[in-house]
Amino acid sequence: MLRDTVVQINLKTIATNMDKICQMVGDDVAVMAVVKANAYGHGAVSIAPTLIEHGASYLAVATMTEALEIRKAYREYPIFILGHTPDRLLHLVVEENITQTIFSESQARIIAEESRKSRKKAKVHIKIDTGFHRLGTEDLAELKRICAIEEIEIEGIFTHLALVSDEENEKQYKKFINIISELEKEGMHFKFKHITDSISAVDYPDYRMNMIRPGALIYGLKGFHKGFVDVKQAMTFTTKISQLRQVSKGEGVGYDYLWKAPEDMVIGTLPFGYADGYPRNMRDRGYVTVKGVKCPVIGVICMDQCMADFSKVPDVKEGDTAIIYGDGTNNSMTIEEASKLAETNKNEIVVRITARPPREYIK
Ligand SMILES: *Cc1c(COP(=O)(O)O)cnc(C)c1O
Repeated sequence: MLRDTVVQINLKTIATNMDKICQMVGDDVAVMAVVKANAYGHGAVSIAPTLIEHGASYLAVATMTEALEIRKAYREYPIFILGHTPDRLLHLVVEENITQTIFSESQARIIAEESRKSRKKAKVHIKIDTGFHRLGTEDLAELKRICAIEEIEIEGIFTHLALVSDEENEKQYKKFINIISELEKEGMHFKFKHITDSISAVDYPDYRMNMIRPGALIYGLKGFHKGFVDVKQAMTFTTKISQLRQVSKGEGVGYDYLWKAPEDMVIGTLPFGYADGYPRNMRDRGYVTVKGVKCPVIGVICMDQCMADFSKVPDVKEGDTAIIYGDGTNNSMTIEEASKLAETNKNEIVVRITARPPREYIK
């Protein structure tokens, strides 16, 4: 390890989480494992084999760049792009054997033309807009025209919930199945029908259809309210104290001396900052944990470093390990707690951890 600030990913935890998710939905429901944004900071290429070995039918990413990164490492893994791919890149869908989300006849025709040229049927899933108004179409005439294109394999159909309320979810679901039944009446058959992400896959078993799309859940980030699945946080973020010093009452610490010592204290420097993805607004709210003691982060968080108050740690030494995000044991701050303190959500806390801290995989 070239740095003391390290993101540890427990592959066993990811494996167990996948097993629990698969058990929860049963054999008739496929699991599309969402690994966009470098698997929410966990490292998509590094965790992909674990996901596939533990029941993932697809690895889903947001962009072509993310898809190609996985495809380079694994020729055979099924890869799905959840987002829009620009027209000029659609040939890669065919060439690299990637399943693409489509929501327009024009893109369907471009992929069909590429398929015809290379005599390889590209797979697509059609995205239906049932109210979220992000990606998708609800234009039945256009959908029928897309379904009539023979050079592409329309393997699936899906939509996304806005998770506004039970009533709104039901409205979106109904709209989705009405569109599906209209298309099935025309003789269409969809191998996969899917609507749920992590939260809705747990909270609304009736909406699982025959595929779910969990992301957060795989990493042990629990956002569900009604249901339950016993997944555990797979990531730990740790560092080591670079330097310790005594400061006297009234002395300032950090830029603008925005924090001032209320009494004589032991202050230490930690080698991580906002360039590692630590939220800058953790100033005077965050803490790290050393030997089970919560040590408040004090003063302005710098790009590469921050300071904390280690006065309460018995026999504290330079080089002692400090937990930035842990699993909650030993008084460590969970990702859930970090998200509340930083006034964001759990997914943002993990995806914002940059590439700079090395990832270490525990098997
Ligand atoms: C990101 C994403 C998911 C996974 O979301 P989680 O909340 O992390 O489970 C599912 N579906 C779509 C379309 C997404 O963009």
